[in-house]
Amino acid sequence: MEDNSKATAAEGERINNFLEDIIEKDLSEGKYQAIQTRFPPEPNGYLHIGHAKSICLNFGLAKKYGGKTNLRFDDTNPVKEDTEYVDSIKEDIKWLGFEWANEFYASDYFDQLYEWAVVLIKKGLAYVDDQTQEEIRKGRGTVTEPGVNSPYRDRSVEENLRLFQEMKDGKYPDGAKVLRAKIDMAHPNMLFRDPLMYRIIHADHHRTGSKWCIYPMYDYAHGQCDSIGHITHSICTLEFDVHRPLYDWFIQALDIFPSHQYEFARLNLTYTVMSKRKLLELVKNGYVDGWDDPRMPTICGIRRRGYTPESIRMFAEKVGVAKRDNIIDLSLMEWCLRQDLNARSNRYMAVLDPVKLVIDNWEDGKVEYFDAPLNPADPEGPSRKVVFAKELYIERADFMEDAPKKYFRLKPDGEVRLKYTYIVKCVSFKKDADGNVTEIHCTYDPTSKPGAGERRSVKGTIHWVAVDHAKEIEARIFDTLFTEEQMGAIPEGVDYKNYLNPKSLVITKAYAEPALEEDKSGIAVQFERVGYFFKDPKNGAYNKVTGLKDTFKM
Ligand code: ATP
Ligand code: MG
Repeated sequence: MEDNSKATAAEGERINNFLEDIIEKDLSEGKYQAIQTRFPPEPNGYLHIGHAKSICLNFGLAKKYGGKTNLRFDDTNPVKEDTEYVDSIKEDIKWLGFEWANEFYASDYFDQLYEWAVVLIKKGLAYVDDQTQEEIRKGRGTVTEPGVNSPYRDRSVEENLRLFQEMKDGKYPDGAKVLRAKIDMAHPNMLFRDPLMYRIIHADHHRTGSKWCIYPMYDYAHGQCDSIGHITHSICTLEFDVHRPLYDWFIQALDIFPSHQYEFARLNLTYTVMSKRKLLELVKNGYVDGWDDPRMPTICGIRRRGYTPESIRMFAEKVGVAKRDNIIDLSLMEWCLRQDLNARSNRYMAVLDPVKLVIDNWEDGKVEYFDAPLNPADPEGPSRKVVFAKELYIERADFMEDAPKKYFRLKPDGEVRLKYTYIVKCVSFKKDADGNVTEIHCTYDPTSKPGAGERRSVKGTIHWVAVDHAKEIEARIFDTLFTEEQMGAIPEGVDYKNYLNPKSLVITKAYAEPALEEDKSGIAVQFERVGYFFKDPKNGAYNKVTGLKDTFKM
């Protein structure tokens, strides 16, 4: 990660990113009274974590400099767009904690865009072309060869006006004609070789219905929509830098509010695909359980998994704003989540791979309750009661028959503290025919009760639950959806689905202390010594959001 805001000054002060520098300069020079940004999703899929980065950036900058952010749906392609996506996008932005000043749709401006196209025709800067898509493509030339003018390039203004009107009126089938800007067929920037402005698509639009059968192209619509909204800083991803001169060209040709475009590197994550097209394919073909599958990099997916908006905003801030493409380590996102959850989440004990432990010198049927803090960072804060009894479950991995010296959990003749309660000593254990441990027997030391005067200490502490009181839960343990770290580096022609991880979801039965059922926090809880788990709002299972250990090296 270079060239981003993660860098900090010696005193720990955050350094401006390049967009903040530009905005501060614009404001100090009085170029604008206030800044205005926009987030412009195309409603053709659910938002992913890359969009979250863009949302945090656009809304974050406006917030920082007292400006406003509009939500503008870039709905210029009726074929792929849907209100289902519009609704989900709004929900996701709100969940991330942002409020838009205005909700706009590019389709709100179809009339204005049409009028402006007429203006350009009248200025001799646009013409109707009858060539086929293939002819237009060929005529454009290549990077090394200039293009050739269309035979329809020199139509009169009157003819162009009439044909464009007829295109709008539905007189021609799809593909019969297009409207093109008349710029320069030999321009070194291929996008300037008479770019398409309008194409004919006889398809109903999710908002304008059947009113239109011509739809504006991205390059013709985007800048003009920014301009209508008086967007001062139109921020987009790097691949649009070659489009910027064209963005400026249309604005200048129409002499309208001068919005400016700035580009930053799109967010890429290890072990992740982020293109909506691929995510849609995973959903449609049933590789995942919908857009909100907890393994998906969609905002609704990570929300269902148990990520918090706070952690995503922290992540966006840490990633910073780069000007060169890079790939961010997924573990940084998890690191941010842990920072947030470690501070706020309630603790409970749960055993995921149980083996029974019996306390031989504990009376049958006797139970004892212990107070345990919900968050150890706040020992005087709210607590829960944990119930202790003769028969417990502990984690299979917390007992070892032939333990090495440095193994401080339970072993034959060894001692360990059962968290919040007594020290127990292993006196015997049973195994089945396959050699698996089936039952461990211990004795407890009554003098080791916490808070009862002299406190003996042992090196190991393990978690546990009482067999008769524990609640059975379903735990869902996730691994990355893909096995390949650099999903972006998969060669062309190789199917990215070959890298789907067959072990990305493991479902297991687990046992949790009873207090878990009363948890009201609404965020993930920590199963002590195991990881963070979030109760799936759809199926009630406990999703493992992330483990406790950091794999990210700051
Ligand atoms: P995809 O390529 O994943 O389908 P898109 O760019 O087509 O995404 P849009 O709905 O057009 O999706 O994107 C809305 C905004 O989010 C745009 O400004 C776009 O630049 C930004 N954006 C999309 N993907 C990323 C990403 N990976 N990182 C940062 N910003 C992104
Ligand atoms: Mg797009």
